[in-house]
Amino acid sequence: MTSHSHQMIRHTVVLRTLDVLRVQRLTPHMQRVVFGGTELRGFVSAAPDDHVKLFFPNSTGGIVPPVLGPNGPTYPPGREYSPMRDYTPRSYDSELGELTIDFVLHGDGPAATWAAQATPGQQIGAGGPRGSNIIADDFDTYVLVGDETALPAIGRRLEEIPEGTRVEVLVEIPQADDRQPLHSRAHVNVRWLERSGISADQSELLEQALRELPTPAGDTFYWIATESRRTRNMRLWLSEERGVPKDWMKAKGYWKAGADGDDD
Ligand SMILES: Cc1cc2nc3c(=O)[nH]c(=O)nc-3n(C[C@H](O)[C@H](O)[C@H](O)COP(=O)(O)OP(=O)(O)OC[C@H]3O[C@@H](n4cnc5c(N)ncnc54)[C@H](O)[C@@H]3O)c2cc1C
Repeated sequence: MTSHSHQMIRHTVVLRTLDVLRVQRLTPHMQRVVFGGTELRGFVSAAPDDHVKLFFPNSTGGIVPPVLGPNGPTYPPGREYSPMRDYTPRSYDSELGELTIDFVLHGDGPAATWAAQATPGQQIGAGGPRGSNIIADDFDTYVLVGDETALPAIGRRLEEIPEGTRVEVLVEIPQADDRQPLHSRAHVNVRWLERSGISADQSELLEQALRELPTPAGDTFYWIATESRRTRNMRLWLSEERGVPKDWMKAKGYWKAGADGDDD
């Protein structure tokens, strides 16, 4: 078996205040927010599935992130701290000083609710990325599997993946008009799977499409990001039924049905 080396890069965690510069509704369920501000200087995101911790206004509108100290993050006593959620840097332009984040509008939750009303001039807090996991670029094929929360990471990976690479993409979205253009220099096959009313935690469209995908020739890397239970089941299936080695896949629950992001 060929070994493919992945690389983990650690970053010093920096807490920042971000200013909303622009907002754009990409599709019915995806809100793009472009952030700027002087504190973005020095921001680094080295891998397409990096994440930042975003800190949203508390019930009184305050942004109260943790304070970073020698013993890790602590919260200022007596203050209601900000809800914190994980988001993918969809792109970062260091010359313009602009960080783009795409938010799924799934309904409830401080992050989705904030994104739906985001307006230029507002502020939120951000921390990280803490690290970047650089996946080896010498696999024959990459299979990317995700729901709409994974679309920012999938879209970014497709833009950054070397020319000529073979990529199979299975992506589940609420409805047909949630498709978005994906750009790449690689050889990409995209299958859009529309849930059309089935909830994102109960759907089995991705599982079925993964089972039906012919095993690609050569060494294949699998990347999966969906609701936690579904991710776990697909990871187990790949490992037990297809014998995919641990190092040839990365599977992460991006959200948990019935639990808010603070519980993860
Ligand atoms: C590494 C990483 C990167 C991520 N990147 C992105 C990203 O770029 N864009 C993005 O939109 N999300 C992304 N997510 C997912 C996002 O962090 C979660 O969806 C988060 O729970 C949203 O917070 P909230 O405050 O809106 O809802 P919460 O308060 O966390 O949850 C409220 C309720 O909504 C449910 N819920 C949460 N998310 C969803 C969903 N997507 N669909 C249906 N129900 C949901 C919960 O089960 C809960 O019942 C990422 C997650 C991880 C771990």
